[in-house]
Amino acid sequence: MNVRETLKANAAGHLEIGGCDTLELAKSFGTPLYVFDEDYIRAMMRIYRNTIAKEYGGNGNVLYASKAFSCLAMYAIAKQEGIGCDAVSGGELFTALKAGFNPGDIYVHGNNKTVEELRQSVSAGVGGIVIDSYREADILNEIAREYGVRQSVLIRVNPGVEAHTHAFVQTARTDSKFGFSIADGTALDYTEHVLSLENIELKGYHCHIGSQIFEKKSFALAAEKMLDFIKSVKDKTGFEAEILNLGGGFGIYYTDDDPKLTMDDYAEYLTTLISAVKAKTSSLNLKQPYLLIEPGRSIVGEAGITLYTVGAIKDIVGIRKYVAVDGGMFESPRYALYQSKYTAVKASDVNAPCVQKVSIAGKCCESGDLIGVDIPLPQVESGDILAVLSTGAYHYSMASNYNRNLIPQAILVKNGRAEVIIRKQTYDDLIRNDVIPDSLK
Ligand SMILES: *Cc1c(COP(=O)(O)O)cnc(C)c1O
Repeated sequence: MNVRETLKANAAGHLEIGGCDTLELAKSFGTPLYVFDEDYIRAMMRIYRNTIAKEYGGNGNVLYASKAFSCLAMYAIAKQEGIGCDAVSGGELFTALKAGFNPGDIYVHGNNKTVEELRQSVSAGVGGIVIDSYREADILNEIAREYGVRQSVLIRVNPGVEAHTHAFVQTARTDSKFGFSIADGTALDYTEHVLSLENIELKGYHCHIGSQIFEKKSFALAAEKMLDFIKSVKDKTGFEAEILNLGGGFGIYYTDDDPKLTMDDYAEYLTTLISAVKAKTSSLNLKQPYLLIEPGRSIVGEAGITLYTVGAIKDIVGIRKYVAVDGGMFESPRYALYQSKYTAVKASDVNAPCVQKVSIAGKCCESGDLIGVDIPLPQVESGDILAVLSTGAYHYSMASNYNRNLIPQAILVKNGRAEVIIRKQTYDDLIRNDVIPDSLK
């Protein structure tokens, strides 16, 4: 098994997470089961927050990117750790508020927020709304007038840096549904428009250059481009941004194809970014802006594992061995979406040598319903418990009821204690909103 802070083999050789034996967890809660290590989540939130405190005098905050994993308990943890969050839909905003989150610590995103979502955000008193179209600026200006407030906003900007895992590219023209481009001047034009509106108050800029990024230089470069832009806006309009939100995107460890970053490494990534901000503001003679970052995957991804029970095994000799489990694309959609790679572990014998590569298949009616392919495993049999690792981010949050499968429950583990944070769905949940109209009776 590859090294992870959250996992170990206990005395019996079973996989343990948060002091809990995963075979026991599977027995008491059933499978599939999402398991989250509370200490890891908290440690990641702290490492970012403390780095901003240490390297940037605390002039900033961490916004947990809700879309990675949104539920009441997750916001409760973020709140206790003193960080903020973002929300990309009315549903994420609703959940954060229900968990008791201070609205002022919430930033709302989205390239096409509905009028209702904008209203919900203004009436809740969110800290900021990241705006992304002329239509939105004008609608928001009207809504803020109605509520008698001046709503703080950031503009989503496209810095012309696109990063993916190990590489990044600089682009003059960006083909994206998100943001206004610096290079073609539209970000400046939009700034001038927003500055002319009475009821919205421009606080600064936001960018997000990608996800699962390991290239430190890409973050630094994006920060530099944003600050060059801030400087040119200042020179042309007199407006100097107070807030710079540099988005999320720090990568995590799925398989040995990815580097394994330690907590110190994450601190170093953020320090590199902060150093770039400090150097650039000083060379351009700008104020150091209040800094926001929005990590999602790196906070919760490695904190999570999914436990499955092995069912049918189909060995197509010379071609491929399918090990089917009781989950699938309805609870683990990333392979179907992006051919993502994973590591799996046989929970009853963590140290058993891997002797084969298998495809882990789900139970949905789709050939493409796989959890992963070419996954090294020891011998496994029907009834074994498998753990798929690094499933904390973009699994539950992307789950569906495809084939009317039930979305699994989620538990939080710490010091040998396991608590449910999302209950298992029931069949009644599936038909809760179904209606047979009179015409069909
Ligand atoms: C997805 C997203 C994030 C979080 O990205 P991670 O890769 O999970 O850190 C942050 N900000 C915005 C605007 C996003 O779209």
